[in-house]
Amino acid sequence: MHEFEIINHFFAQHKKNRQDVILGIGDDAALLKTNPDQLLATSVDTLVAGIHFPENTSPQDIAYKALAVNLSDLAAMGVTPAWATLALTLPNNNEDWLKAFSEGFFSLLDQYQMQLIGGDTTRGPLTITVQVTGFVTEQNALRRDQAQAGDLIYVTGTLGDAGLGLQLCQHPEKYNINGADKNYLLQRLHRPDPRVTAGLALQQISHCAIDISDGLAADLQHILTASKVGASLNVDQLPLSAALKNNVSIEQAYQLALNSGDDYELCFTVAAEKAELLKTAFAKLNCEYTCIGKVEQQVGLRLQYADGRKYEIKVQGYQHF
Ligand code: ADP
Ligand code: MG
Repeated sequence: MHEFEIINHFFAQHKKNRQDVILGIGDDAALLKTNPDQLLATSVDTLVAGIHFPENTSPQDIAYKALAVNLSDLAAMGVTPAWATLALTLPNNNEDWLKAFSEGFFSLLDQYQMQLIGGDTTRGPLTITVQVTGFVTEQNALRRDQAQAGDLIYVTGTLGDAGLGLQLCQHPEKYNINGADKNYLLQRLHRPDPRVTAGLALQQISHCAIDISDGLAADLQHILTASKVGASLNVDQLPLSAALKNNVSIEQAYQLALNSGDDYELCFTVAAEKAELLKTAFAKLNCEYTCIGKVEQQVGLRLQYADGRKYEIKVQGYQHF
């Protein structure tokens, strides 16, 4: 297949479901209708084979993750997703690979009634860039710079699973993990579930969130720096899955929960008097969440065990350079 056949067959044919797309794939640019009452929120992320996912990852999972990590960024801003673009750099035009990739991509895109509105297709080492755009009002946006001393700090889901999943991919010989735990951990690595509905529910409850892509400690530190505050966390409250606890020591589990990336859960802050509201809203969503600490005036991140002993941590999120 040639470039235009690839675009047409695998990407342009998929159903088009949005009225705000006046012109989608096929011209020099997409034409989109915006709403004067809302802000546009936009975010882009690139996944490079061998850096962001192991070379042998399935095309479905690569596509799913490329979109999921972007949706996670919108979730962390309280944004309703709408449109996506896809820049694909491919080493060859393998049609089975492209078919599987487009299935993975659209399976997630359709869950959020989004539309693919354009992209670019080039030859080279496998690299996927997805850009997503959505809507939020100025009052409802969740920002990193809005944490206030006294707020409680929460995270959704469990932490550290994707980190152990990655170690399993890199050093399978080191682990002897049962099939169910292994599947769960690899699923957490390859198919992160972007917390879009949680982000939307937080609009009325929180002003401040971030998604955990580089590890809780590093990502929470971004909130603290931007908001010019500090925090204390209780490591015994970190939410850990059974699959994680079954297969590593508790100290390793804390380490993974704090420092490994790729979980794509949300970390957010809530004023203490809104805790009840949070409970009601998240019960409806069936979204697990845990209070792990609180925001304080004094800058810096302080970690301790429940009995008050200090927990020493080297904050070390993933950095490319
Ligand atoms: P141009 O030459 O103007 O850059 P292209 O030939 O790159 O246009 O793309 C033709 C059309 O196909 C454009 O509308 C573009 O947005 C779309 N497109 C290209 N690659 C992709 C892709 N991987 N996914 C979705 N749309 C794509
Ligand atoms: Mg182009």
